[in-house]
Amino acid sequence: MKELVDLLKLYKEIGVEYVRKLNVASRVDMLDSLKEQVEHCTLCELYRERKNAVFGEGNDNAEIMFVGEAPGRDEDIQGRPFVGRAGKLLTELLEEIGLKREDVYIANCLKCRPPNNRDPKPDELTACFPYLKKQIEIIKPKVIGTLGRYSTYVLTLQKGALGTLRGRIFDYHGIKVLPMYHPAYLLRNPNAIEVFVNDLKRLKEMAYG
Ligand code: URA
Repeated sequence: MKELVDLLKLYKEIGVEYVRKLNVASRVDMLDSLKEQVEHCTLCELYRERKNAVFGEGNDNAEIMFVGEAPGRDEDIQGRPFVGRAGKLLTELLEEIGLKREDVYIANCLKCRPPNNRDPKPDELTACFPYLKKQIEIIKPKVIGTLGRYSTYVLTLQKGALGTLRGRIFDYHGIKVLPMYHPAYLLRNPNAIEVFVNDLKRLKEMAYG
């Protein structure tokens, strides 16, 4: 971390005013140290029952980031986001539009599993938000696809139904945010898959032009 502060000071001294992407070593260091904080986090009650905190994973230089809700059973066991049924569908649909999981970054609003996959509580979302905020600051994606209503609320502060928000573009500190259906919703409503795939294509277009 000290090296990074020194590097940023040096940039300032030599007149570099705007660094859109941090260099690889700094990004990896910062994500590693944030991950360690998350793994030891006790800011809300969810730490008591977690098997593993689920920090997030993917390309730390990604232009596209996805933010889901919270780890489920499989994610809690493996310590990785979106590895259960919903995650497998997400991975397949990414591949359908020519993207691999390793191309994007995937994180959640909550880093620990709520018991029985209940909805996140407001105090849990508030306690965990600084971690997501920092992840976004480090990765600096061009676009974020929010998967479901919780991540959409956390990043856009829009409380409306996802059906009315999906497809609209919001701004989060200069990053475009596209609310999307949650992959678990697609498992229950396969006829929404086509809309989701079109949203994925839109994200890809916004990220790479
Ligand atoms: N649902 C989520 O929102 N996130 C995961 O990581 C898995 C399922």
